[in-house]
Amino acid sequence: MTNKSLKNLNSLKFDYSCKSFIEITCYEDLFQLSKKIRESKTKYWILGEGTNVVILNDLEGLVIKNKLLGVTYNNNSVESASGENWDDLVKDCLQKKLYGFENLSGIPGSVGGSPIQNIGAYGVEVSNFIDYVETVNLDTGNLEIFNFEECKFGYRESIFKKFPSLFITKIKFSLSKAFKPNLAYESIPEDIEIDSADEVRKIILKIRNERLINPKEEPNVGSFFKNPVISKTLLDKLLLKFSDLKFYYVNENQYKVSAAWLIEKIGMKGYEAKDCGVSKKHSLVLVNFSQKSENIIHLSNKIRNEISKKFDITLEYEPTLIT
Ligand SMILES: Cc1cc2nc3c(=O)[nH]c(=O)nc-3n(C[C@H](O)[C@H](O)[C@H](O)COP(=O)(O)OP(=O)(O)OC[C@H]3O[C@@H](n4cnc5c(N)ncnc54)[C@H](O)[C@@H]3O)c2cc1C
Repeated sequence: MTNKSLKNLNSLKFDYSCKSFIEITCYEDLFQLSKKIRESKTKYWILGEGTNVVILNDLEGLVIKNKLLGVTYNNNSVESASGENWDDLVKDCLQKKLYGFENLSGIPGSVGGSPIQNIGAYGVEVSNFIDYVETVNLDTGNLEIFNFEECKFGYRESIFKKFPSLFITKIKFSLSKAFKPNLAYESIPEDIEIDSADEVRKIILKIRNERLINPKEEPNVGSFFKNPVISKTLLDKLLLKFSDLKFYYVNENQYKVSAAWLIEKIGMKGYEAKDCGVSKKHSLVLVNFSQKSENIIHLSNKIRNEISKKFDITLEYEPTLIT
């Protein structure tokens, strides 16, 4: 398909188009596509459900939409094709009494998108459950499998962010047959008694509903920035000036600072710009009401500049910028 609009394929609802477009439903499609890409040297981008991408302009190349489906269960292990919806997988696992994913309930996107930035929420990251990630390298046509160590997971990081030619096809997860609640995260009320994973899911979905913004109502990609990790030296310096600084211990020399707190401190929570803004509910979420990317990029640069000036911290984008 040529000159396809991407408006309904990205949760910011930017109305850009791509020169060509293909949906992948089986491995054979992928191997053939890889051959064509090598022959024609086409520029390409892989798309899951588009909930973590910022498309910056019309794309002069091929967008490859992942539609690989199928899940198999064996004891406590789950092999999911990458085009499955993440939250449907979470729901299915809970129904099959396989536990671990419950804190990751309600995260939008595909299963294949989950290891890219190592999705995380309420004290849990998807990497906690990954045995291996299977990929097809579109630049070589080879099937490549990455075990847990090789995935090089970190905070919103993985090897896959660095190698965009790796099309994730399948992921193998290990879950637990015994439910063990993980309720240490500060947003989860302390006084509740929980005896089932379904209850955890219900609570997480309620919190997410209250705090996050449905992209169908106000187009967004969730957190626009990562929480910055800073040195102990900078932390000590900042604490002298801002005693209420919100931060978390990473290791002796590194501390993670709340990006939401930084944005609130520069007075930009709820800030309204031209056709976009900082959400009133959650300062890390930028909402978009425009067909194009200029305004939101302008706004994000303004936020980054103000934070850099006030705190000497550089905010990094959490979503992938596509250009
Ligand atoms: C309202 C909202 C709330 C959110 N909450 C959270 C949250 O709590 N925690 C969190 O971590 N994230 C959150 N996100 C971000 C997003 O949901 C996740 O990053 C999700 O995993 C993205 O999946 P996707 O299929 O939409 O990926 P896409 O947006 O389609 O793609 C994202 C990146 O992954 C690459 N990619 C996607 N699929 C593949 C594949 N099969 N092979 C290779 N590369 C691929 C793309 O090329 C792109 O670089 C939120 C987003 C929204 C809109």
